[in-house]
Amino acid sequence: MSSTRIRTVEEHAEVVAELLPPTPVVTVPLGRARGRVLATDVVAAVSIPSFDNSAMDGYAVRAAELAGATAEAPVELPVAADIPAGRTDVPPLAPGTVARIMTGAPMPDGADAVLPVEQTDAGTERVRLHAQPDEGAYVRRAGEDTVAGDVVLTAGTVLGAAHIGLAAAVGAGTVDVRRRPRVLVLSTGSELVAPGTPLQHGQIYESNGPMLAAAVEDAGGEAELLRFVPDDVDEFLATLARRVRDGAVDLVLTSGGVSAGAYEVVKDALTGRGVTFTKVGMQPGGPQGAGRVPELGDVAVVTLPGNPVSSLVSFEVFVRPALRTALGHPQPHRPVRTAVLAERLTSPAGKRQYRRGVFTETGEVREIGTSASHRLGALARAECLIVLPEDVTEAVEGHPVEVWPLHH
Ligand code: AMP
Ligand code: MG
Repeated sequence: MSSTRIRTVEEHAEVVAELLPPTPVVTVPLGRARGRVLATDVVAAVSIPSFDNSAMDGYAVRAAELAGATAEAPVELPVAADIPAGRTDVPPLAPGTVARIMTGAPMPDGADAVLPVEQTDAGTERVRLHAQPDEGAYVRRAGEDTVAGDVVLTAGTVLGAAHIGLAAAVGAGTVDVRRRPRVLVLSTGSELVAPGTPLQHGQIYESNGPMLAAAVEDAGGEAELLRFVPDDVDEFLATLARRVRDGAVDLVLTSGGVSAGAYEVVKDALTGRGVTFTKVGMQPGGPQGAGRVPELGDVAVVTLPGNPVSSLVSFEVFVRPALRTALGHPQPHRPVRTAVLAERLTSPAGKRQYRRGVFTETGEVREIGTSASHRLGALARAECLIVLPEDVTEAVEGHPVEVWPLHH
C-alpha cells in the first residue's frame, strides 16, 4: 500500500513503535548483564554490611578501657584472639583484653571500637595501644548501607558496573532483563560492493549495513547483518524469506530502494505485502516504509532510505527510540537540549530538519557539512542533531534551537 498524504514525524514514529512490543523477560547471569535493561526490581537478600565489621586493620577494643592512652603513656593489654577477614567463629571479647582484627572481619561481641594498627606497637601476644578511640570508631555497622528486603535496583535501570556490583553484593547471582530485540539488517543496491574489495567506476562501498548494525547494537539490540542484495525483487524476497524462516526476528531493517526512482527494490517487493510506503515531513529521511509482512511470518519491517545520512537520521528518529522502548528503557529518546545557534540557518517550510551540528568552544552550535544527505563525513564528525521545526524557515544567529547530543 502506498499513501500519498505526508505523515508527520510523530505519526510515523508511532507506526514504527507499534511494530516493536516489549521483548520478553529473560534471566541472565551477572557476567552478561552489562548494558542490559533491568526488567524486575532487585531486592536485597542480605544487608550491606550484613554484620558489624572492622573498617581498618587494628585491634577491636572496649574504648573505655583505653582511657588516657597516648604514645608516651600507652595502655597495654593482652591480645586474646586473632580475627582475619572470613573468620566465622569469632569469640566474644573478654573484658580487659583486645582482639587483633583485619579490615572486613566480624567485630567480636563486647568490642565497641577499632584502634588502627598504626596507633599501636602491633604486638601479637600483648599490645601497646597509643590512643583512646571514640566509641564506634572504625566499625562498619550492619545495614548502614543497605537493609535486607530493600529494593536496591529498580526495573528500567540500565545496568552499569556499580549496579552489577550492588546486585552481587546483595546476593543476586542473576538478574531479569528484557531480551535484546533481534534485528536483521539488509542493504539493497546494485551499485554496492563490500568494503575491502576492489571498486569499479560507478560502484560504491556498502556502508549502511555496518552502520545500521552498529546503531542497533548501540541502542541495545542484537544486530545480524545480512549480505546486501542487488536491486532485484526476487533476490531481495528470497534473502529475507530464507533468514526469517529460521525464526526469532523482531525487526527487519532495510536500507535503500524506497524513494521515487525506477528501481526501488524494497518498495516494489513489499508494496501489497503489508508494508506501507509513505513520505514523512522531515529532512533528511522523507521516504519511509513500515509494516508487517504476513508472507514472512508477520515479521515487522522498517524500510529506511538509502542515502547514508537519511538512513542514520531516520534510525535515530524512529528506530532507536522504538528499540529502547521495547527494552523497557525509561528514557528511550536522546536527551534534548537547547543551544544557541552560532550562525544563521534556513530550512524549508513544512519539513522538520535534522541538521548535523557541532558545539563551539563557547557551547553554541553550528552546522557541520551541509544539509545534503550523502555527506557521511560530516555525519561522522557531528556531535549533535540540530532540530529545525516544520514552521521554521529561518533561524538566525543567537537563536536558541533544540539539539540532540549524539554521543551519550
Ligand atoms: P536509494 O534510496 O536506493 O535510491 O539510494 C539513495 C542513495 O544512497 C544512492 O546514492 C545510493 O547509492 C546510496 N546508498 C543506498 N544504499 C547504500 C548503502 N547500503 N551504502 C551506501 N550508500 C548507499
Ligand atoms: Mg538503491
